[in-house]
Amino acid sequence: MAAVSSGAVILEDDGSRVTLQYVCVGCGRAQPGTTNTSQPGQNAYCDMSYRCYSCGRENNFRLFGS
Ligand SMILES: [Zn+2]
Repeated sequence: MAAVSSGAVILEDDGSRVTLQYVCVGCGRAQPGTTNTSQPGQNAYCDMSYRCYSCGRENNFRLFGS
């Protein structure tokens, strides 16, 4: 299973692709829609970011492969 730091949650992980829901660290709001991305792979990670639609906070989080 992939893992993710604060700022997003994993909805689905099929071993090659991961579906993420962004959840703002600042205000706790889930962002509209989901994001589907490649799993980074074993011992690898991917840094991702987005701006909260509600409070405008810039959120940075890390997606870890497995
Ligand atoms: Zn926010």
